[in-house]
Amino acid sequence: MLRVRSLASGSAGNATLVHVAWQQRHTHVLIDCGPGLRDIMQRLAQVGLDAARLDAVFITHEHADHAGSAVQLAKRHNLPLITSYGTWQAMGAPTSLAPRWASDGQAIGVGDLTLRPFTVPHDAREPLQLRIESPTAHLGLLTDLGHISSHVVKALQGVTTLLIECNHCPTLLAQGRYPATLKRRIGGDWGHLSNNQAADLVQRLSHASLARVIAAHLSEENNRPELAQQALATALGWPMSRIDVATQANGSDWFEVPPNPTRPPAPTSPAQPTP
Ligand SMILES: [Zn+2]
Ligand SMILES: [Zn+2]
Repeated sequence: MLRVRSLASGSAGNATLVHVAWQQRHTHVLIDCGPGLRDIMQRLAQVGLDAARLDAVFITHEHADHAGSAVQLAKRHNLPLITSYGTWQAMGAPTSLAPRWASDGQAIGVGDLTLRPFTVPHDAREPLQLRIESPTAHLGLLTDLGHISSHVVKALQGVTTLLIECNHCPTLLAQGRYPATLKRRIGGDWGHLSNNQAADLVQRLSHASLARVIAAHLSEENNRPELAQQALATALGWPMSRIDVATQANGSDWFEVPPNPTRPPAPTSPAQPTP
């Protein structure tokens, strides 16, 4: 069984836990580690996981709300770090650790999980987001991007669960108290995804087996959970209550990622009519 849980989501710190239980084995990967070390340890403890049991920490990009305490956590528990070369350089390439390199299109195996990183348009050195596959189910994790590229759409085709950035409502951002330069950065092509952009993407990724969509990385200043839910629900033709929201304070519950439908059997030659 593949499952996902946000431990924290928003501009003050992001961390997402992915777990698969397969043939009596367990694999846990932490995607991003934005909260401070003590905070992330507490959040892991709250879900009953000793940090030492993590099989890897993946850093999507160098922004502090993602890279935060990743190096400290990895050092403390001797955990493998996975990130892009560009992200590592932008983090100052701490010499005490040697990460495993991730790059667009290169699958990375961690226990029973396959991580499939892909490039996103964001104002970081070499940002990557992830499609994560267990032997039976496919999950999409997508935050921190300024617009939807065809590359992103292709990378996430067919996932049955999607955690997607709904950073801001453009109207709230425009009317809010942020300085004009920051508003331009957030709303720009290399900033963050608005509710409407996220809605456009989920519509393009919608299929009969898409079971769950989790709105994430919401701005506490420029968004409201119900606006994100409404935008995604309308795009999918779902009731609003079916859209989950990951929060800064509490992250989210565990969500099981349902198996992808197995391929339909190859067509056989039509049965001969009985005379
Ligand atoms: Zn972020
Ligand atoms: Zn970022």
